[in-house]
Amino acid sequence: MALLSVNSVEVVYDQVSLAVKGASLEVPQAGLVALLGANGAGKSTILKSISGLLAPERGAVTRGTITFEGEDILALDPPTRVRRGIVHVLEGRKVFEHLTPLENLLAATTMYSDRARIDEMAEQMFELFPRLKTRAKAKAGYLSGGEQQMLAIARALMTRPKLLMMDEPSLGLAPLLVDEIFDIITRINREEGVAVLLVEQNAVAALDVVQHAYLIEQGRIVMSGPAEVLRENPDIKEAYLGSG
Ligand code: ATP
Repeated sequence: MALLSVNSVEVVYDQVSLAVKGASLEVPQAGLVALLGANGAGKSTILKSISGLLAPERGAVTRGTITFEGEDILALDPPTRVRRGIVHVLEGRKVFEHLTPLENLLAATTMYSDRARIDEMAEQMFELFPRLKTRAKAKAGYLSGGEQQMLAIARALMTRPKLLMMDEPSLGLAPLLVDEIFDIITRINREEGVAVLLVEQNAVAALDVVQHAYLIEQGRIVMSGPAEVLRENPDIKEAYLGSG
């Protein structure tokens, strides 16, 4: 059984605008999967329908089912989905700018009461992201874009997720930092066994690390397959990998 299964999901904004038109995808246990596509294709909308973060007064899943560990989660509120093990790092590294990295990490753990355990987890995060430790006393708003992205990922990991969803982690980062972030994503997946669903416009970087990818265009999944097969696909090469 897949860890996450999105089945024929349709999402409508403002009761009229069909942003996702019957999309299906799966993330296996401990899998590393990418959802690729251009601006406005519907990638963020799919992630929000999984985490429950569609603004209720604007967007809604109007068809289909989403199951996590075999259970339909569409009726669950976002905090309950986090407790089940689904965490969503939003696009644009939304860290608490006036708090330090450590305070940001602690802010994610209100659902735990074991202080010693929380400190141990924060320490683990600083081992995974040594750059954050060197900036431990700076307010997060003063960290570089890459450091803020690392902090956003570390904060998400503090909830001990089974599924980490990330929206455009490479956006706006210099190439070296993109490599570093993707390296960390791979380690979280391999070493911690956390499944990852990665939304990316940077298909080159994503197809290098994931096992499987889906391509979405205008709200529809138009292609899917193992990363090494998609990398060689002429249409993908032309549209997303910058060569014909
Ligand atoms: P991007 O990389 O630009 O975020 P995306 O593939 O993630 O692109 P979505 O953000 O999911 O795409 O947007 C899909 C479609 O839904 C677009 O046509 C967008 O204009 C529309 N849309 C997204 N959010 C809303 C909203 N809150 N209200 C109305 N329409 C929206």
